[in-house]
Amino acid sequence: MPFNDTDSSGRKLDLRTLSHDRLVALVTELGQPTFRAKQVEDWVWKKHVTSFDEMTNVPAALRAQLAEHCTLGGTSELVRQISADGSRKYLLSYEDGTRAECVGMPTRNKLAVCISSQAGCRMGCVFCATGQGGFSRSLTSTEIYDQVVHVSEDFQTRASSVVMMGQGEPFNNYDEVLKALRMLNSSDGLGIGARHLTVSTCGIIPMIRRFSKEPEQFTLAVSLHSAVQATRNVLMPGVKKYSLAHLHEVMGEYVEATGRRPTYEYALIGGVNDTKPELDALCDFCRGTLSHVNLIQLNDLEGSKLKPSTDEKAEMFVRRLAQVGVEATVRNSRGNDIDAACGQLSQRHNADL
Ligand code: SAH
Ligand code: SF4
Repeated sequence: MPFNDTDSSGRKLDLRTLSHDRLVALVTELGQPTFRAKQVEDWVWKKHVTSFDEMTNVPAALRAQLAEHCTLGGTSELVRQISADGSRKYLLSYEDGTRAECVGMPTRNKLAVCISSQAGCRMGCVFCATGQGGFSRSLTSTEIYDQVVHVSEDFQTRASSVVMMGQGEPFNNYDEVLKALRMLNSSDGLGIGARHLTVSTCGIIPMIRRFSKEPEQFTLAVSLHSAVQATRNVLMPGVKKYSLAHLHEVMGEYVEATGRRPTYEYALIGGVNDTKPELDALCDFCRGTLSHVNLIQLNDLEGSKLKPSTDEKAEMFVRRLAQVGVEATVRNSRGNDIDAACGQLSQRHNADL
């Protein structure tokens, strides 16, 4: 099949979306030996160049031909904010002007990176700025991957872990997310161990099933936020059609298939999901399962009536869960002062720029 160098919208192809075989086909079509493909890949994936001219061991004629057929993405940083705790939030813009945010969170000698899988989100969770801010589009695997490269280069540190907890629902963009995870994991990419790559989902059941069959040991987090069906329906209307009973069953299958411990995320909202019946239901949901509960105080959203719970309640949750054999931790939010904390990344903020 002849090499087709534009996508359906007539734009040049991003060279980094080409498989190795397609790149070899392109190089061959341009009359060059196949080893040139590997050289180009090294520049792109190992040295993260942003222009063909930087590929100094590639002949100038081939560089010019490649530039004629392809682009190298084209992510640019629009805004960078630095938090008092050292975290940095970035607003990136892609070639078509779509914007997405990512965050770098350094600890002593490690760098955790939080990335977005979509620009915006369709799920409409009521406590989440992304969910309330609308949806633009899903990101491609390279756009997802580039966020980690960008943050890592800014800190001049290798990313030690990545969480997909920025904007978007990763399991509404499954194929691209998985490609990105594989690139992050690959020794030809950033070489981050699969266990240090975490996907967080609001609980799209068919995709949890699919994820449990992937061969890599990626980590899974599920946003639970309530184990009472009526409460969860209000908080997370986008996953109403997947019942908690079904979620419980599928998570059992996930543990069975993978042997890995999933995390349940639970943002404590005062008077909503921090009551005794809610705690009882959470204990029932987790009791006897392999799980870890991550409690986090709700991050305030402008104009929302929902408020965080109290530290006493959070500690009570931890104690009660421990009594039924479930490990729980209260996680501190990072980057609160720059709206980089969970659920504060929105398309709305972007629109102000
Ligand atoms: N869509 C995915 C991943 C992105 S959200 C998901 O929902 O899991 C990342 C995490 O931030 C999720 O656990 C989400 O429920 C949580 N979150 C969203 N808004 C929040 C808020 N205002 N306070 C605390 N956590 C929030
Ligand atoms: Fe989307 Fe996750 Fe926010 Fe829900 S919590 S709206 S699924 S990003």
